[in-house]
Amino acid sequence: MSKTTASGRNRPFSFLSLRVIAVVALALAACSRPAPLTQADPFRVEFALDTICVVFLYDQANDEVYDAIFARIHEIERRMSAYLPDSDISRINAAAGIAPVRVYEDVFDVIERAVHFAEISGGAFDPAIGPLVSLWAIMADDPRVPSPEEIAAVLPLVNWRDIELDRQQRAVFLRRPGMALNLGAIAKGYAADEAMAIVREARLERALVDLGGDVMTFGVKLDRTPWRIGIQNPLGERGDFIGVLSGWDMAVLTSGVNERFFERDGVRYHHLFSPFDGHPARTGLLSVTIISGSATDGDALSTAVFVLGYERGRALIESIEGAGAIFVFEDRSVRVTGGVDFVLVDPEFRLAAD
Ligand code: ADP
Ligand code: MG
Repeated sequence: MSKTTASGRNRPFSFLSLRVIAVVALALAACSRPAPLTQADPFRVEFALDTICVVFLYDQANDEVYDAIFARIHEIERRMSAYLPDSDISRINAAAGIAPVRVYEDVFDVIERAVHFAEISGGAFDPAIGPLVSLWAIMADDPRVPSPEEIAAVLPLVNWRDIELDRQQRAVFLRRPGMALNLGAIAKGYAADEAMAIVREARLERALVDLGGDVMTFGVKLDRTPWRIGIQNPLGERGDFIGVLSGWDMAVLTSGVNERFFERDGVRYHHLFSPFDGHPARTGLLSVTIISGSATDGDALSTAVFVLGYERGRALIESIEGAGAIFVFEDRSVRVTGGVDFVLVDPEFRLAAD
């Protein structure tokens, strides 16, 4: 397995996904396993998209399908990573203020979708977040708290309205020099959707994809019971669940303070930035999990809702057909939107009414 992101090698231990291992265990326990029909393993694990990616094909395991899925995931990373110098995103960023850049169709589609979520979230989700991510160096060895002047200097560069999309030419132009796209809050979801598209094309009956804790399920398990997905305790170790979400075909995407962070002088700085003030967003939330039919949309929405905060975030989710959410707050209360089948199991947390 090759590590294909620049940031992966710098990652402190806390970023290694014990949660993934726990999800593996939960998924295996949840699915009765008859003898495999093929020689392939019931799941395959690879490092990609800066995280541990696990694909479960269970009894339908098939090396060709695994190969196709991981080839596609790696391809998405090569095209969409802001940390690989040859990716379309890096080429767009290098040409900011200079010239439009022609990109792969999937890259164009994801940027267009990202701009849509920027619009409907009032800019809380902003794919032009790149300069802030670089300034805080949250992905690097040496993250730091920037000065107010530094933040004030980059804030005008974080503005999705300055992303010009030309569908005819399939070209993307960032109007101001110094602007930079970062699809870190949507590309993983897109990869999960693409993985499932391959599963469906192969006419498999069931699969589960876990990209660093962002999970998508498809089809019916052998034992015909609903899928059960553990929801991470944002205050606990990886794999420490506060409760279990049950459902059928669903994409389950989480944004939380525990994903990536550093501490300075007793303050924890996480990686979900407010494009409005240039700081890690503080809205009283520890994590937001979005449940929806599309992992691409759920990924963007989990970040958007985290930054918007509970009231506005909940209103946004309730305006979207088929979407639900689990909100975990700093005071350890948990709120769930209607139609989400979530059972809280951790007594340190409590379910609260709307
Ligand atoms: P994870 O990558 O841990 O699953 P997210 O999906 O929420 O979490 O994506 C967080 C990443 O998105 C950050 O590391 C950063 O690259 C980028 N990001 C941070 N804040 C925003 C924002 N307000 N809008 C869009 N992208 C953001
Ligand atoms: Mg996201």
